[in-house]
Amino acid sequence: MDKTDQKGINTRLAHSGHNPSDFFGFVQPPVVHASTVLFPDANTMANRTQRYTYGTRGTPTSDALCAAIDELEGSAGTIAVPSGLAAVVVPLLAFLSAGDHVLIVDSVYNPTRRFADTMLARLGVEVEYYAPEIGADIERLMKPNTKVVWTESPGSNTFEMQDIPAIAKVARAHGAVTMMDNTWATPLYFRPLDHGVDISVHAATKYPGGHSDVLLGTVSANAACWERLHDTFLTLGVCAGPDDIYQVQRGLKTMGVRLDRHQKSALEIARWLEGRPEVARVLHPALPSFPGHAIWKRDFSGSSGLFSIVLAGAGQKQAHAFLDALEVFGLGYSWGGHESLAVHVYLGDRTVAKGNHDGPMIRLQIGLEDPADLIADIEKGLAAARVAG
Ligand SMILES: *Cc1c(COP(=O)(O)O)cnc(C)c1O
Repeated sequence: MDKTDQKGINTRLAHSGHNPSDFFGFVQPPVVHASTVLFPDANTMANRTQRYTYGTRGTPTSDALCAAIDELEGSAGTIAVPSGLAAVVVPLLAFLSAGDHVLIVDSVYNPTRRFADTMLARLGVEVEYYAPEIGADIERLMKPNTKVVWTESPGSNTFEMQDIPAIAKVARAHGAVTMMDNTWATPLYFRPLDHGVDISVHAATKYPGGHSDVLLGTVSANAACWERLHDTFLTLGVCAGPDDIYQVQRGLKTMGVRLDRHQKSALEIARWLEGRPEVARVLHPALPSFPGHAIWKRDFSGSSGLFSIVLAGAGQKQAHAFLDALEVFGLGYSWGGHESLAVHVYLGDRTVAKGNHDGPMIRLQIGLEDPADLIADIEKGLAAARVAG
């Protein structure tokens, strides 16, 4: 489909990526299992003058997904890697060298921090964390050797909103690349490259996959950063498997309607939770009571199904009682699938964005079940927490 096409998002999701007439009219792209690609003659082989040359370098299956993501992100190129964490690691390795300085938001997805504190530090990169609310004040932290500013908005578990346009503007003025983990919003509700970000990262494991059965990551770059990102991808050999790529491109077709339902149910439940005496705070960017709400409203066009609550004046015993009373919600990591999940949030890794949460924090992933059943389940959890307290 034409990239300038202004059709609605669900129409574009249904028709982007694969062109059926390229493969005998079949609606979905072929799942190409490949290492070797044959060349018709020695000259073509020597000059690699054909579209596909080797399995690690792309196939019709990976092209279908990456073209669809490019259209959603407005990017020059996208790579597909075996996990969301790999999608974090590859661009950082692409743009950081020994002696460089990287600024990372303190409310970052914890495994991103672990990669930075262990491997980046070992490779001689100076790692510094900044407060999510910093905005244009990030200017104060920029050094001559700052090469990358890593953002994630909203923040993991605590959902702090970052002023992405302000941060990206400062970074660009200093010659640093801005990267954003955009997993929460998906490109349907926020398009980082339109706001000055250079590289947008997704755990496609979450909403694009959508069914808790596949791991995949995507990294999308603007024209200025694409070549270096792509070179690093080829150098590292971190290509994803064709079945996983296929599952995610298939998931994209229904992502719009799924997200719409995640959004509506999560907001209904978040609003209901705001009125409950057992709940001290609801951390959801689309609620007017949330501190980062104005930024969310300015920059984002929707909210997804993941948010947190702080239980009023309770401790770990109450948090565990709440979780153990849930029957519809599963206890598990990850999110973005069809089923609801809950987890007791750990914030001990924070250095500057510690927050001042007076009770235990529970993160809820609102799935596609009927909201009335989810509310009844949470009511059981709150009752159990009350008894435990
Ligand atoms: C889950 C997640 C990742 C990592 O994705 P995996 O596929 O589980 O490795 C990265 N960033 C964020 C914000 C995530 O929620």
